[in-house]
Amino acid sequence: MLAIVKPEARPGAELMRVPIPEVGRRDVLVRVQAMSICGSDLHIYQWDRWSAGRLHPPLVFGHEFCGVVEKVGDEVTLVRSGDYVSAEMHVACGECYQCRTGRAHICQRVRILGVDADGCFAEFIRVPEVNIWKVDPAIPVDYAAVFDPLGNAVHTVLAGEVPGLSMAILGCGPIGLFAIGVAKVSGAHPIWASEVHPFRRDLARKMGANCVIDPTCQDPVQIVLGETDGRGAEVVLEMSGNPEAIRQGFQMLSRGGRMSLLGIPSEPVTLNLADDIIFRGALVQGINGRRVFDTWYKMQGLVKSGALDLEPLITERMSMTDFKQGMELLISGEACKVIMYPPGRP
Ligand code: ZN
Repeated sequence: MLAIVKPEARPGAELMRVPIPEVGRRDVLVRVQAMSICGSDLHIYQWDRWSAGRLHPPLVFGHEFCGVVEKVGDEVTLVRSGDYVSAEMHVACGECYQCRTGRAHICQRVRILGVDADGCFAEFIRVPEVNIWKVDPAIPVDYAAVFDPLGNAVHTVLAGEVPGLSMAILGCGPIGLFAIGVAKVSGAHPIWASEVHPFRRDLARKMGANCVIDPTCQDPVQIVLGETDGRGAEVVLEMSGNPEAIRQGFQMLSRGGRMSLLGIPSEPVTLNLADDIIFRGALVQGINGRRVFDTWYKMQGLVKSGALDLEPLITERMSMTDFKQGMELLISGEACKVIMYPPGRP
């Protein structure tokens, strides 16, 4: 089969022919219909410090996809060939304390397909049965291919109360942009979005943000405090990982508000714990992955309701053979979700 492979520990990737994966007793082989490029795929492509420390090439990378079941192992009962599926690509161990207490999304021994083992940038992918998600047939493949990052957004927005609360979303990469849409349909109001890149600020407006802030020339803290009689936002979602944005997030947070952090800073961040968290009575949450499968049920319900429009965020569609072009577009910041198809698909 054709696959996008990181052949060695260096920048770049190659389109190569590799064997179709063998299917174990509890595995599902999926014929990929659509795949999408994540920010972490870009890191892998560019071979940053994180990928150099984590990956063991050769590896088929990619972890956002959907497809049709081609073949199942002897003991698989959840799906059969022909079923329309996506998958949770964080493979939990099922045995650690967190897994045994209903929190597999923070498994101590998680392995990520497309990072720690072969992923979905290929014509076929093998996934353990327990990780398979059956996609509602009414949902188009381009939307099912972005369930992974959309799930991050759903998990973050819905990690606390939402309806009628004011919400600030800092950082409008794909997950921040999805979060604006999810917050909107979940009844948050008003929604502030802060983002440095003009292309992404436009998308933030399209997704329904009431006020879009350019932090390079505007002060997000003053704007949020100014529009709330000094009270601040009841919920802040930190999606950028930028230390300055994180500090601003706390300064604009209402007393007793919720701060949910998903963006990953590349270095330790200094906070004023007394003012930012303790006296503020802030609820601070780290958000990792998607709750399995609670987030998936909610996400599919939101998409199926028709209220959540993902179309503005799918900015490019191309063959997987043109993947380098997709990577370059994302590096330029002039793209949001890039959907790729295996050869022979539109
Ligand atoms: Zn575990």
